[in-house]
Amino acid sequence: MIVLSIEDAVSRETLADTPIAVEVARALRALNVRQDAWPRPAATRVMTVANQKGGVGKTTTTVNLAAALALHGLRVLVVDIDPQGNASTALGVDHPVGTPSSYEVLLSDRRMSEVARRVDLADSLECVPATLDLAGADIELTSLAHREHRLAAAIETRLAEPDAPDYVLVDCPPSLGLLTVNALVAAREVLIPIQCEYYALEGLAQLLNTVELVKNALNPRLHVSTVLLTMYDSRTRLADQVAAEVRAHFGDVVLAPTIPRNVRVSEAPGFGQTVITYDPGSRGAVSYVQAAEELARKGAEEKPA
Ligand code: ADP
Ligand code: MG
Repeated sequence: MIVLSIEDAVSRETLADTPIAVEVARALRALNVRQDAWPRPAATRVMTVANQKGGVGKTTTTVNLAAALALHGLRVLVVDIDPQGNASTALGVDHPVGTPSSYEVLLSDRRMSEVARRVDLADSLECVPATLDLAGADIELTSLAHREHRLAAAIETRLAEPDAPDYVLVDCPPSLGLLTVNALVAAREVLIPIQCEYYALEGLAQLLNTVELVKNALNPRLHVSTVLLTMYDSRTRLADQVAAEVRAHFGDVVLAPTIPRNVRVSEAPGFGQTVITYDPGSRGAVSYVQAAEELARKGAEEKPA
């Protein structure tokens, strides 16, 4: 007899990667998809995933939340504006130099709908890939008119077209340059992933300051709506301290689930996958799904301005 439950799937992590375990994971995913659709927000939520520190889990958070939302029936557009294109890779979207991408959207007014690519894991998930062409964009943008508003204009155009997404998630590079500023101007919400480590809070003031500047000068509706604690290691007291400090400072914008440090999460991109599809029963996948559900339920309660 095979009993499928989240608990089984979680404990599966202690088992060897047997073919049956893989099948169980697949079945679980299928069940999960059909079982519950999460509520749609009243209007598209445009969220920028930002933190100028590298390696804090921006990309991992973007693609896994996107996957979870899409697998629960929501239409999601991921916009990759990091020249490294890690989000594109994790979503299985090829992005060699020259691929129509966010570079053309930002620099030559290509429509997002022309360059967006369907992502295999869900019909309702699309990705505007990034390529290394974007590496010089911070400088190239400087000389253009409306240089801070180019992404905002492109997203607005997309939202006016048919099948507007429920969520737009923008994955930022690890800097506060013009690319990130474009993302902050384009979004209503900022999602900050914070790694549960010693230096986690360092530099956060600078990010919050940038958010404030953009809000005051360019985008009055911008606010930090969501903080997610990532790479949490329950064996260290330090992780607890950082988590407590972040919750004390940010209050209830911090999502209740924390994302544990979990090797399956870091393996998934190597297979062009999110951990949600790569190993749905892993602790990393389960916690990203929980975080996405909280995000979706909170978002559906809010009224559009
Ligand atoms: P950023 O986009 O902020 O630079 P990434 O999402 O690329 O950060 O994460 C940095 C590295 O840490 C990547 O190699 C990623 O696979 C790994 N990683 C992210 N989250 C986790 C996690 N919860 N557990 C283990 N490894 C993780
Ligand atoms: Mg990244």
